[in-house]
Amino acid sequence: MASQTGAIVQQSLNALMGDSSFLPLIQDQRREQAFQSLAAILSTPNKVHKAFLRIALDNGNVERIPAFRIQHNDALGPYKGGIRFHESVNEEEVTNLAALMTLKTALHEVPFGGGKGGVAINPRNFSEKELYSICKKYVQYFSDVLGPDKDIPAPDMGTGEREMDWMMAEYKSINPGSPYLGSFTGKSIINGGSLGRREATGKGVYFTFRYMLHDFLQKNSEWLSGSTNIFAQTALAYKDKPFSIAIQGFGNVGSVTAMEAYNCTALRNRVVAVSDRNVTLYNEDGLDVPALVEYAAAHRGDLPTSNEELNTSGITANVLEREDVLYLNTDVLFLAALEDQIRGDNVGKIQARIIVEGANAPITGEADEALAASGTIIIPDILANAGGVIVSYFEWLQGRETQFYTEEEVYKQLYAKMQKTMNSILPAYFGDPLPLRQNCFVHAVTKLSTVLYRQGKLY
Ligand code: NAD
Repeated sequence: MASQTGAIVQQSLNALMGDSSFLPLIQDQRREQAFQSLAAILSTPNKVHKAFLRIALDNGNVERIPAFRIQHNDALGPYKGGIRFHESVNEEEVTNLAALMTLKTALHEVPFGGGKGGVAINPRNFSEKELYSICKKYVQYFSDVLGPDKDIPAPDMGTGEREMDWMMAEYKSINPGSPYLGSFTGKSIINGGSLGRREATGKGVYFTFRYMLHDFLQKNSEWLSGSTNIFAQTALAYKDKPFSIAIQGFGNVGSVTAMEAYNCTALRNRVVAVSDRNVTLYNEDGLDVPALVEYAAAHRGDLPTSNEELNTSGITANVLEREDVLYLNTDVLFLAALEDQIRGDNVGKIQARIIVEGANAPITGEADEALAASGTIIIPDILANAGGVIVSYFEWLQGRETQFYTEEEVYKQLYAKMQKTMNSILPAYFGDPLPLRQNCFVHAVTKLSTVLYRQGKLY
């Protein structure tokens, strides 16, 4: 487990050690041993699967591509987690992401464990036929450990419904006659996917922001104004105020988050900046987000990169450097691209007072501490970006029942689930001065530890 997640799990266990209502039947020396067992279980994956996929390229060459499936913990249900196609994929990164999934499903009461997969490629460097072959090989190499009741992958960075459809089809060929709809989630609708799954993460990311800074704030402003908590002060400063918003990343998560912010009528939002792997686009009066979404859809997901491209598509914006999105003077910054974007060396340049983690682990531990100390509200990945796994769970259920929900039902259930989690966490966050991430981890570790104890896993 990467140091940040590991350190927060350890801090959570330390906090729980002195809590007499936590595992009250385990006392004295036995309690210490149980906590050691918990630390060991939560900080290491159950299984690490690694392969070198043999792929025949279009030019006749054969390449061996590193691929991983890491199964972190299945105490709460079958392993669940995305498959990432990115050149930076490595065992440590995938292990950390798998651990985060274990904690995320525990926090949101989704009956799955935590897993993650990855293939170390830049998918843009491969033809469609080569990508198809990579997807098939991935399932062939890991077929023994995948399945609707064992381990259920989903899309992540660099993958989407096309890849999930290919992978499910391969799973079906390898396991004739077995149920297969629940083997992968994030599939296309026609192929057994759930309505709303593609949008689920971005919608959930925006929902956590809206719920905290509008619904919860409106309902609890009296109580919050009596609090000396620095995060409560930051939130109250925004009561009934408009928000200027910047969004890093304009893929599946970022573009949907941008549309949600643009269309939200509960808050007075201005999406002033969006960015991707090439550029930041800035317009102080607010960007035409629907036009940018349309542009990206027609250009392999990329935003316009020059004045000429902006002019021909009728979009008004200034073209800035890719990293500039992080340092703009906006109220809110959504991070929806990669890990480690805000670090010790650039945290001093961050101006936003509210940061929402759509991406996994976009803020390093050092930067996290510095931001929390200044009262910056960080809605962490474990809380904010769980919409994907929650609707994946709905997709898995629908596949089992072969009954499908309407889009309206999916979003209603998604928001109900996220709201329940937020309501169980926010009073503690605004009540005691622990950062939200820490609050969420304590909650998730409590649930996991209790289940592990009940399953007899702490001996
Ligand atoms: P995606 O591949 O659809 O989009 C990624 C975006 O980031 C693109 O706009 C890309 O241009 C941009 N980008 C790439 N490198 C960049 C860089 N160096 N600087 C700035 N921007 C850069 O991926 P996605 O599915 O939107 O996932 C984004 C993040 O959200 C990842 O961290 C992923 O793990 C996390 N996440 C995704 C889901 C999901 O359901 N898709 C669920 C949970 C978490």
